[in-house]
Amino acid sequence: MLNRAIRNSICILISWVLFIPTLNAQFCGNRLDYIPDTSRIDDFPIRYVRINLHVIADAQGAYNFDDSLSIQFFTSLIDIANYKLRVKTSMNLPLHNTVPNIPCRYQYQLASSINDATVPAIYLHMETNPMYQFFNSAHTTANNVYSTFWYDTYGIHKGDELNVFFLSHHPDSLNSRTYSAKDQGVGPAKYVLMANAFQLYQQNIAKGMSKNDAIVNTASLTANLLNHEIGHSLGLMHTWNGGDGCDDTPMNAGCWYSNDPANPCSNNMMDYNAAQSAITPCQLSIIHSNFADKKSSQYQLLAPIWCEKKDSLKIIIYPNEHIVWSGSKDLEGDIIIRNKASLEIKCIVSLPKNAKVVLYPEASLILNGGLITNTCSEKWKGIQYMKKRKLKAKVVYLAGGRIENYIE
Ligand SMILES: [Zn+2]
Repeated sequence: MLNRAIRNSICILISWVLFIPTLNAQFCGNRLDYIPDTSRIDDFPIRYVRINLHVIADAQGAYNFDDSLSIQFFTSLIDIANYKLRVKTSMNLPLHNTVPNIPCRYQYQLASSINDATVPAIYLHMETNPMYQFFNSAHTTANNVYSTFWYDTYGIHKGDELNVFFLSHHPDSLNSRTYSAKDQGVGPAKYVLMANAFQLYQQNIAKGMSKNDAIVNTASLTANLLNHEIGHSLGLMHTWNGGDGCDDTPMNAGCWYSNDPANPCSNNMMDYNAAQSAITPCQLSIIHSNFADKKSSQYQLLAPIWCEKKDSLKIIIYPNEHIVWSGSKDLEGDIIIRNKASLEIKCIVSLPKNAKVVLYPEASLILNGGLITNTCSEKWKGIQYMKKRKLKAKVVYLAGGRIENYIE
């Protein structure tokens, strides 16, 4: 049973069927190879998930954020959600745990509108069918949370952008003493459906908050649920029953908030709690291995920033270092292997057009079953040596290792 506090925010786990792309993941190497390595964090470029936002109003455009409020609220929401991902905290549970708090290395990128590339992809819809103007948490009606109506009807750039829908509770329901309006949502692979943000904003205004304060407060509260639901879309499951594929996530203690340091609640993003501020290394391995699976729905959502070379994002293997990359990577700059250093590649490394691998004297590039390629239908620049005589720098090909799509 959920206690009353937990019922403040409910995410309804959508059908297992929708998680099939995760369960059938086809990434190279071991899943744990995709945990960002804090000692070499530049080797794990930040991933950007493209999203667009939809506001569902009634036929008169009422009962949800209007044009003028939407831009301000939703840009604040994305900024705050990204901030919360960047500053995520250590795990509260189990007490005295040593689970490391490592950077999550993913963010959201609000797409551009299909109508005007200079404005963000925030779409207002005046739904004429009363059945679909409002969120309905009942499971027995056609317009229930499992309905794909909104995605089917209004989805834009399906598959390439995560479509996030914001609905309101029905005004009649809000007037009912027996109806409890909650933050609610679902997070299938290709869209997210959420309710209650506009009600929270109205409540904040009714409390006397200024418009700006109400927007920031509402965005901060809503960002927790957004991160949770997108966590589902990226492949994560609820943690409290076990069986989420991770042994570093705590079983939920049925607790929303505690100010007792000796008896804290879980603060994991995929539990129901007031913080939702922690993501474990195992959870990150699921997300990033899904990003590395080029057949996954999660990979398709990524902004392909690795197709454009950035001089500032070169990867350097320093003198005498010996680095092994056991997972695939989509890099955005050159790879520099300095004197007497070595880099062993076991999976697929994508380099952008005109990027190169530079070998200093006595450096080694070992392609141990690995592949260096370009996945943007262009060519990378190939391997270069710092000295013409090569000075014992070498490229070693093992277990079918090779390079392709380079300028010969
Ligand atoms: Zn959930």
